[in-house]
Amino acid sequence: MTLLEERAAASVARTIAGITNGAVEGETCAPELAEGPWAFDLGMPGYGPGASQDDVLPAGSPAQGELPERYRTASPEEISSMIAAAKATLGSRVAVMGHFYQRDEVVQYADFVGDSFQLARAARELPDAEAIVFCGVHFMAETADILTQPDQAVILPNLAAGCSMADMADIDSVEACWAELEARFGTEPDESGRVPVIPVTYMNSSAALKAFCGEHGGIVCTSSNAATVLEWAFERGQRVLFFPDQHLGRNTAKAMGVPLSAMPLWNPAGVRGGLTDEQLDDSRVILWNGFCSVHKRFSVAQIEAARASHPGVRVIVHPECPMDVVDAADGYGSTDYIVKAIAAAPAGSAFAIGTEINLVQRLAAEYPQHEIFCLDSMVCPCSTMYRIHPSYVAWVLEELVAGRTVNQISVSERVAEGAKVALERMLAARPDTTMAA
Ligand code: SF4
Repeated sequence: MTLLEERAAASVARTIAGITNGAVEGETCAPELAEGPWAFDLGMPGYGPGASQDDVLPAGSPAQGELPERYRTASPEEISSMIAAAKATLGSRVAVMGHFYQRDEVVQYADFVGDSFQLARAARELPDAEAIVFCGVHFMAETADILTQPDQAVILPNLAAGCSMADMADIDSVEACWAELEARFGTEPDESGRVPVIPVTYMNSSAALKAFCGEHGGIVCTSSNAATVLEWAFERGQRVLFFPDQHLGRNTAKAMGVPLSAMPLWNPAGVRGGLTDEQLDDSRVILWNGFCSVHKRFSVAQIEAARASHPGVRVIVHPECPMDVVDAADGYGSTDYIVKAIAAAPAGSAFAIGTEINLVQRLAAEYPQHEIFCLDSMVCPCSTMYRIHPSYVAWVLEELVAGRTVNQISVSERVAEGAKVALERMLAARPDTTMAA
């Protein structure tokens, strides 16, 4: 067994299968996770089983058609042979990208593994690749398409792999909010040259929102550089409109000294966001009412339980977690921060991690010298990341071998242009990967 195969053997999918058939002790938030994701592709509204199963999927979201039968019924070994043969035939004409939150059964075929922006940048460095098979979610494939050449095709193996957080801020609602803010604050800069509002979007957003930021003097941020980006924005604006993740915005701005009273929450379903004139006038960061259903699951009670059962454990959480969880943790930061903290620890350390279970379980397998476990004992992966399965990867690769490109994600030239402006502003800002409590 190769190292990658060994990791896949300890995978979340195996754990879920074991829990479902009674062979493994534990709980999963949805026994349906044990089924092939194609069971949810046809006629089942929603994000599918997992952390986002109760979120409302917006009307008109991309849907996946029926996966051909041979891929639905093939054994894992047959799928593995199909993928290996297709990759060998295509050679450097194709690159497979695997996000950290993908199941190990997919990650084992990835040429590159990383977070969304690392993968998009890696794709940009591969001019020979005619196709980038992006095993992640929709907004990530869009970003890769924006950053790669027009003749490179970015493919999302399952079109139903969206992101419930990204979907919580749509372009129409953000434009409506912007119109309200302009009506309140005007557009003229103050005496120090700062405009009334700078829009900041998290990487986890649609290309249309990145373009909106590019066209309105705004910028994109990641969970690694959010503080640097907010500093950039405060130099140029009196206040920030931050979307879609309220928690990343709140945790970052709070660490920078912005009082909670200056961070009102904009509810797009309410009249003028549900905010008063006073709240708007006093604001420094207007937070959009969006969240990640994976990271929202973590709680202070889980941290207390981890500390009680593992004295001396180091608790590290992602900044998409709610503020009380971040405050109670020993450290917080991006995926990259979490990986580096574990890699740098002396052997025999114990970590309770508050982020997506596929990454946590992979880290536990990769660093057997430590004890690493997920803060949430319930096995509940990201619904949409989990919609990608090796069977879809085999299908899109074999289609490429046959000269057909399926499930291509294309961002229009106009949107890509605006989004690139916002992304380039981010790249020009100094990267900051040391955000820790
Ligand atoms: S983990 Fe959260 S932010 Fe990431 S894709 Fe899943 S729902 Fe979206």
